[in-house]
Amino acid sequence: MRQNKSFIPTLKENPNDAAVPSHILMLRAGLIRTLGAGIYSFLPLGYRVIKKVSQIIREEMDAIGGQEFHLPALNPIEIWQETNRVEAFGDNLFHIKNRDYVLAPTHEEIMTFHARRALQSYKDLPQTWYQIQTKFRNEPRPRSGVLRGRQFLMKDSYSFDSSNENLDASYKLHDGAYRRIFKRCGLEYFVVGASSGAMGGSGSEEFMVQSDAGEDTVAHCKSCGYSANVEVAESVPAVIKFNTEERAVYEISTPNVKSIDELRGFLNIDESRCAKSRIYICNEKPVLVLMSGNEEVNETKLEKALGSAIRPAHPDELKAISGADAGSIGPVGYTGTIIADSRLFGGKNLFSGANKNDFHIGGIDLARDVPRITYYDLRAVKSGEGCIRCGSELGVFTAIELGHIFKLGTKYSAAMGALFKDEAGRELPLVMGSYGIGVERVIACFIEQQHHDENGIKWNKALAPFHIHLLCLNMKKNHLKEISEKLYARLLEKFEVLFDDRPDATAGFKFKDADLIGLPIQVVIGEKKLVENKVEIKVRETGERFDVSLDDLVEKISQLLF
Ligand code: ATP
Ligand code: MG
Repeated sequence: MRQNKSFIPTLKENPNDAAVPSHILMLRAGLIRTLGAGIYSFLPLGYRVIKKVSQIIREEMDAIGGQEFHLPALNPIEIWQETNRVEAFGDNLFHIKNRDYVLAPTHEEIMTFHARRALQSYKDLPQTWYQIQTKFRNEPRPRSGVLRGRQFLMKDSYSFDSSNENLDASYKLHDGAYRRIFKRCGLEYFVVGASSGAMGGSGSEEFMVQSDAGEDTVAHCKSCGYSANVEVAESVPAVIKFNTEERAVYEISTPNVKSIDELRGFLNIDESRCAKSRIYICNEKPVLVLMSGNEEVNETKLEKALGSAIRPAHPDELKAISGADAGSIGPVGYTGTIIADSRLFGGKNLFSGANKNDFHIGGIDLARDVPRITYYDLRAVKSGEGCIRCGSELGVFTAIELGHIFKLGTKYSAAMGALFKDEAGRELPLVMGSYGIGVERVIACFIEQQHHDENGIKWNKALAPFHIHLLCLNMKKNHLKEISEKLYARLLEKFEVLFDDRPDATAGFKFKDADLIGLPIQVVIGEKKLVENKVEIKVRETGERFDVSLDDLVEKISQLLF
C-alpha cells in the first residue's frame, strides 16, 4: 500500500485522554480514533490487525470442528427474559428505546434459541458453533482504550453435547485451541482457575495477561505456572522468628497508641512481635481475627474459613463486644470466638491490645494464654513469597482477561427448553459450554506486553498490518524514485508492503513514523547506500541495522521474517 495515498494519521504527541501504553500507541500510530467513551473506530491500519487476529482465531476454531455463524446484535428482549439475564446484566445491557430490543452483550441465548428443536437427538451432537462478532456492554468505566470498550469484537463459541463427559472433551478442544491462538499471536499468557476435569457441568479457566490496565489482582509463578486470584491464592510466607524468652503477660499503658505502626514505634519493636485484632460479624456473632503485624485480613479466605458471609464490625459496636475501641482490642481475656492467621501459630512474647482503651498487653504466649484459637490461612499473598507448589518466587500483579472457557452445563438449555433425546429415548437438556476471546483485547495486550518502546509499536509478523515498511528517503530524486518503485513491485510479490512514497515528508519524519507504526522490517532506500547498490534494513524488534545488496534483499527479508 502506498502511504502517500493512505489514511494513516499518526500523532507526534501523546494524546491526553489516554493513559495505558496500548491506548496511547494505537491512537498515535493511526490504528484507531475515539468516537465516544469506550467507542472506537478502527482505521485502515488497525482494521488490518483485526483481520489478522480474526484469521488466526478462525483457523484454530475451524481446526477443532467449529462452524462459523453470524448472529444479529439486535435481539428481541423476550429471549433474554427466558433466562432472567435482563436482570442479571442490569445496567450493563444496552436497551433500545421505545422498542423491546436489547443489544447483545454475549450470545448464549441466541445460540440456544437456534439449538432448541434443531438439535433433537444425540445423533446430532456434538456441535461447536462460533462467530466473530460485535458485542455491546455498558461498561461503567471505559478508560483503557479498546481493552475495555462499550462495543467490541468477541470470538464466542458454544458447544452442545449429550453428556458431561462429552462436554469435557469439547472443553479440552477449546483449551488447546486457545493455547495455540495466543501462542501464534505472540502473547505471554497464564491460566487462572483450573477446573477439575472430572467435574463436567462446571469449571472454567481464564486466560490472563499481566497489565496495569487489569482489574483483577493475581498471584503467578513463572516457574511452575501456578496462578490464582489473590482472593484465593496461597503462598509459603517467610517464617516468623518469635522471641522465645519465657515471661508472664504484663499490661503496658500506651496512651494514644492505636495502629500497629504506632505500637511498634512506641515500644521500639519489630512489627512481627505485634498481633493485630479485627472484629468481624458472622451470623450476627462477633469473631476476633488475629493477624501478624500489619497484615490485612483477606475477607474471601475468612468467609471460607467461617463457612458463611461476614462483615467488619462497625466502630461503634466494638466497645460492647470487647470492652475497648479499635486500636486496643486483643485476644487475652476476650471471651468470644477467636481465629488467627496460621503464621501466628506458636507465637510467643507478642504484643496486642488489652481490651481496655489506651492499654496493651505484652509477653503473650498464644498457646498458653489463648488456647482456644483456631488457625487458618487468612492473609493475602504478597510478591516475593514462595510459590505454594514449587517454592519459587511468586509475582503479585494486576492482570486482564484475554479469554475465558466455561462449562455451562444445562443452565441455558434447561431454562430455554433446549432438549434432545438420548440413546434410551429420554429427553434431556443439551449440555453446553461457552468460550470467549476479545479480539481488540488481544491486539492491545500484545502492544502492552513488551512489544513497544518509547518510539512506538513493535509488531511481530503474525499481527503486523504489513510485514515491511519501505522508505524512500527522497521521492523527488528521479533515480531514487525509480529504484524504489521497482523494489516495491518486487517485494509485493512476496510480502505485505507499506511504501512510504510521500514526496514532501523529510527522512527524519519518515523514520519516526516507521518506528511508531512499528512494522517488523524497515527497508531504507537512500542515495549514499544506493551508490554501492545497497539499501539499509532495520529490524524494529531489536533495533539492529545493516546494509544488504539489492540482489540479496528478498532472500534476506525472507530469512528475517520466517
Ligand atoms: P472482564 O472481567 O474483563 O470484564 P468478562 O468476564 O466480562 O471480562 P467475558 O464475558 O468472559 O468477559 O467475555 C469474553 C471475552 O471478551 C473476555 O475474555 C475479554 O477478552 C473480552 N471482553 C469482555 N469485555 C470486554 C470489553 N468491555 N472490551 C473488550 N473486550 C472485552
Ligand atoms: Mg466484564
